[in-house]
Amino acid sequence: MSPTVTQVGDGTYLVGGTDVNWTVLTDGDAVTLIDAGYPGDERLVLESLRSLGFRPEQIAAVLITHAHIDHVGSLPGLLRRATFPVHTSEREARHARREYLEQATALDLVKRIWRPGHLRWSLAITRAGAARHVRVPEARPFPGGGPLDLPGRPVPIVTPGHTSGHTCYHLPESGAIVTGDALITGHPTSRVTGPHLVAPFFSHDPAGTLAALDLLEPVAADLILPGHGPAHRGPIKEAVALARERATPAR
Ligand SMILES: [Zn+2]
Repeated sequence: MSPTVTQVGDGTYLVGGTDVNWTVLTDGDAVTLIDAGYPGDERLVLESLRSLGFRPEQIAAVLITHAHIDHVGSLPGLLRRATFPVHTSEREARHARREYLEQATALDLVKRIWRPGHLRWSLAITRAGAARHVRVPEARPFPGGGPLDLPGRPVPIVTPGHTSGHTCYHLPESGAIVTGDALITGHPTSRVTGPHLVAPFFSHDPAGTLAALDLLEPVAADLILPGHGPAHRGPIKEAVALARERATPAR
């Protein structure tokens, strides 16, 4: 399997791994990585960087949307290859360090295995290391507020809900927003395409996930780079309205 690398803007790439995305922002000889796939996606992360002409030593920083295994899984492996800072919100940094865990358990998944798409997906993510225990002791809060001094000049927007410290990243220069699992556009366990919320069972606080859309609505972005599903072009205001409309009650 190869990573799917899609250029979505100047120095901005959305990469698909094992049913999960990461974002690569390049500037000269340095690169910002936002999220890092499953543990088994390490090779795909490296390959995506290599295909754009970068080595792990050129990672200026890794930013985390949230510390679920499908978004931080390859970080321990990457950190054995190169040294770089890992940043997220103050709250999510604690989650990444595994001072606590807010993630559906393997048993929660098994209970849903009969649903359409779940079995194939469960096998794929298990192969990718979904059941492994990963912690990122290196995770630290952002060094300051406002745009980060990194390739892509990302601006963190804390959007608690999916996890308590979930963070999106606005990229003002390309009018894009990296939404992690606060707003997705596709998932193997769902037939819904286009902007929508993850199934409530995946979220630590489903009501909070819905409420966090209020924080995304006013952002000046017309390109959504989600944690799952393809990039979506269109005003964020409309994407948020659609996600609200489609939001299903917790079950
Ligand atoms: Zn995810």
